[in-house]
Amino acid sequence: MLPTYQEIKEKLIAPFPKGTVEVERNKAHIPVQAYINRLEEAAGEHWSWKTNGQPLIYEKECQIQVKGTLKILNAEREGVGFSNFKVYEDNKEKIQNLKYAILAAESDALRNACNKYQMGWSDLAQYKDWGKNPGVGVTVTQPQTSQPVAEFTCLKCGKPLQASDLQELEKYQIRNKYCSEDIPAHMRKKR
Ligand SMILES: [Zn+2]
Repeated sequence: MLPTYQEIKEKLIAPFPKGTVEVERNKAHIPVQAYINRLEEAAGEHWSWKTNGQPLIYEKECQIQVKGTLKILNAEREGVGFSNFKVYEDNKEKIQNLKYAILAAESDALRNACNKYQMGWSDLAQYKDWGKNPGVGVTVTQPQTSQPVAEFTCLKCGKPLQASDLQELEKYQIRNKYCSEDIPAHMRKKR
């Protein structure tokens, strides 16, 4: 029997395993391979991806744009992707690694289309401004409480702060970074 769109969708939008999100220079993203793996697991033979038209080259911006359509059962979403390229020093007309640049833009387009199916939203929400917006309706995947988060350390004991420590600080609206044990008593009384 054919799976329903709803059945596939539930699997598509489920949180990814810990460590799937990669953060580089403060930008969080999910690698295209993780999306493809999820599409395979959730939709199997019921998904397809095809690029639309020729890659578009923006010479001045040194960017390549690729568009494609991700089809799951009867649903279709278009994705747009970009990648940067370099030209040769001695031949400014000629793009270095053209093939790589096109493939990178295609991967970006597929990621963009996956995003339109809400894939990875629960994983990315904690890094994005829209993540806290109730209209978006995502359940944020919380970082594991046993793992230190971000780069904060306790002002008093120097221990890396955990998610639970940060929640505690937020609860009392304390801006200085203390671990839960070292929050000065007078600060806990506020509010
Ligand atoms: Zn401490």
